[in-house]
Amino acid sequence: MAATFHDVGQIRRLHVVLRGAVQGVGFRPFVYRLATEMSLPGWVINSAQGVFIEVEGQEAELRAFLGRLEREKPAVALIQSLEHSFLDAVGFSRFEIRESEGGAKTALILPDLASCPDCVGEIHDPSNRRYRYPFTNCTNCGPRFTIIESLPYDRQRTSMKRFEMCPECTREYHDPTNRRFHAQPNACPVCGPQLELWDAAGTIVAHRDEALQEAEAMIRAGQIVAIKGIGGFHLMVDARNEDAVRRLRERKQREEKPLAVMYPGYQKVMEDCEVSSVEARLLRSPECPIVLLRRRESAALTPLAASLAPRNPNLGVMLPYAPLHHVLLRDLGFPVVATSGNLSDEPICIDEHEALERLAGIADVFLVHDRPILRHVDDSIAREIGARELILRRARGFAPLPIQVERELPKLMAVGAHQKNTVAASVGRQVFVSQHIGDLETVQSLRAFHHVVDTFQRLYELEPAAIACDMHPDYLSTQYAMKSGRKTLAVQHHFAHVLACMAENCLEPPLLGVSWDGSGFGPDHTIWGGEFLLVEANGFRRVAHLRPFRLPGGEAAVKEPRRVALSLLYQIFGEGAFAMSEIASLAAFSTEELRVIAPMLRRGINSPLTSSMGRLFDGVASLIGLHQRCGFEGQAAMELEFAIPRPAPEEAYPFELGDSDPLILDWEPMVRAILNEVAAGVPSGPIAARFHNTLVRAIGAVACQAGVEKVALTGGCFQNKYLTDCAVRHIEMCGHRPYWHQRIPPNDGGIALGQLMAAAREG
Ligand code: ZN
Ligand code: ZN
Ligand code: FE
Repeated sequence: MAATFHDVGQIRRLHVVLRGAVQGVGFRPFVYRLATEMSLPGWVINSAQGVFIEVEGQEAELRAFLGRLEREKPAVALIQSLEHSFLDAVGFSRFEIRESEGGAKTALILPDLASCPDCVGEIHDPSNRRYRYPFTNCTNCGPRFTIIESLPYDRQRTSMKRFEMCPECTREYHDPTNRRFHAQPNACPVCGPQLELWDAAGTIVAHRDEALQEAEAMIRAGQIVAIKGIGGFHLMVDARNEDAVRRLRERKQREEKPLAVMYPGYQKVMEDCEVSSVEARLLRSPECPIVLLRRRESAALTPLAASLAPRNPNLGVMLPYAPLHHVLLRDLGFPVVATSGNLSDEPICIDEHEALERLAGIADVFLVHDRPILRHVDDSIAREIGARELILRRARGFAPLPIQVERELPKLMAVGAHQKNTVAASVGRQVFVSQHIGDLETVQSLRAFHHVVDTFQRLYELEPAAIACDMHPDYLSTQYAMKSGRKTLAVQHHFAHVLACMAENCLEPPLLGVSWDGSGFGPDHTIWGGEFLLVEANGFRRVAHLRPFRLPGGEAAVKEPRRVALSLLYQIFGEGAFAMSEIASLAAFSTEELRVIAPMLRRGINSPLTSSMGRLFDGVASLIGLHQRCGFEGQAAMELEFAIPRPAPEEAYPFELGDSDPLILDWEPMVRAILNEVAAGVPSGPIAARFHNTLVRAIGAVACQAGVEKVALTGGCFQNKYLTDCAVRHIEMCGHRPYWHQRIPPNDGGIALGQLMAAAREG
């Protein structure tokens, strides 16, 4: 069985959706010539929703095709957005231009797109009437989703309706040969939105370009400036100023989570970071996400503040995407921190009066404007994994573009999980996934959740037959569904992760889902998180899981990896664990603290059982002395990944699967081996690598036992590049076919899509 998979695994199908000025500019013949020249069979089609392309070939060829598609396109074609995914081949024999699909134009709302090169050229041109005008846009770029009140999309139904176009703008708007023909947010310095600089009391201190220049002076002077952008407020400070960055962290109550940085230009990014071709494409794409890049290790770099991303070899980098950013960053000439304008864990602020209140005590001044933002849309975050792009946070530039599924779906809605919440809704063969909402913990985020649900229902005129939600009764999203008065379907969390991965990869069962994350409600009332789920036509079976351990103190153990480590030790050594003072985790406890925690472990009080892989990462990070307390969830696990040396050692530790049903992946032999290495003085780097390698081999072992061809990697743990890269290679080596996320986050941001697919399976 195994050998045959490997051969067919080499050929992939590339699915591309392009939107922009690509219709009617000889784009299809161009695609035809390119595909034929590269001997890639497939098809291209023009539809109301954009240009769709599918080609088949070796993955490297497909990536080359993608690159040439963008580089060699006809000069007049402008690609507004390009979404692609790699799917299984279906066996095309030749390349063809298919007939355009007729039929009704479904309501498609474009995301907000980064300024196009033409508009950027205009705002930097002193002779242009839009010189330095921060709200310049055209049909190829600018705000969309954040300004739409209702459909159909025209100016009267956007937040631009209050601005009456001047004669010059009106002429552009009505001229079919003009780039601004029917550009709904069209504006200029005469008729459009304007900037104001407000002090912390909300008093206007400057107008227009003067406001911008004063804000720049404040940034240069180390102040914190709140800047109203496209989908909400940013807090900006000089990224080189350690004091300013520290002050921002203190005021924002964001202790250690990395801060994103906006660079003046691509050249500077390349000087400071390693940039692959996939990352370069992402950075300069119209979606313009924050891209996680590896910082270079050399002296000639921009002297960035040390507290930007403590103990982190990566940097979250983005380029200017709004005209305002282009002017600001060109004037400043150095990178700035551009973090969302909120308190930690709250949704991003969108209104200047609300900002004044919520960001009081954080920002020194506010650079605001009078174009209302109708809904919050955060910056998206992406990372290269498995030589492909992976979206970690899907928001600006991507939302609310739909995911295309193979068959017609009933009208459904899904309300997502608790953390990194998103919602989803199906219309025909499309699933619309909302922008990132956040953790449903604060009143603010719950309000944002309701707002997004209402928007979805209104924009897409939804009357869902059912609402899918998580099985966890305490999630506020679950409670919303239960109170909706509609039919509800509770979907197991890790099953939803797997279904999300299946949906975006167009996969049918049977398949093994490796669903690893921090936590999710298990039907056995324990906390799941290290799951191997065999998905079949009518449900799933838990074929293997991580050996459970206790979380002393429940939630407290999420914040303190040392508690997890102690629990692992207690499970192996019993009372002897408390005497292992040479272990860093134990040394991190005071006698007082141990007196409280010990009874929890002994009697299992306030110590829920979990099979969470995320927590195992935490526990190991603690055992090897990397991290004892966390500033944010996943921090210890991230540091474990970052500790891996380059090149990484290839050996693994022993592990056991046993022969029970379900199989139990036992971490004890591995933890014992790690303790031996720690005792022998082995540094954390090689241990971290061998820990990852062990998990990768465990995936291979379970896949072989499950006897299925397809293996889907999903859940927050697969945001880890080393783990995912190695697992993909290892799964292929074992003769199976690996799948992982691309356009939908592997973390809980993907749960809504999975829940919706589960409800669709119910019929
Ligand atoms: Zn433009
Ligand atoms: Zn005008
Ligand atoms: Fe999860």
